[in-house]
Amino acid sequence: MLEMLRKRLLDALDGCRVRPCPDAELDEQPRLDACADENEFASRVVEVGMQIALRRRLEERRGEIEAALKRMDTGCYGDCEECGEEIGLARLMANPTAQLCVHCQADNERGRLRRCA
Ligand SMILES: [Zn+2]
Repeated sequence: MLEMLRKRLLDALDGCRVRPCPDAELDEQPRLDACADENEFASRVVEVGMQIALRRRLEERRGEIEAALKRMDTGCYGDCEECGEEIGLARLMANPTAQLCVHCQADNERGRLRRCA
């Protein structure tokens, strides 16, 4: 069962490596050349902003997946980082990168909401 989850994580990791658009040069910092046409400039600003947001999201996701794979190697995968209890298979199947059990996750979210209030 763990092997199946590992495979899902590896698949997801592969997915993170796929470039959303073959033409997008994600390795290079998107360039914003001064542009004579204001409208074109504005749409390029939006485009570059979206590329950056997308790349950041992919990097975050990749970090979560790599952390989960590392936990599998060290044998603590599936244990809640807060309370040490098992996270539970159903939850891991739904979200293989989960680090907290349902209860701690709920506490965590409540705490965050309280801080924001
Ligand atoms: Zn917990």
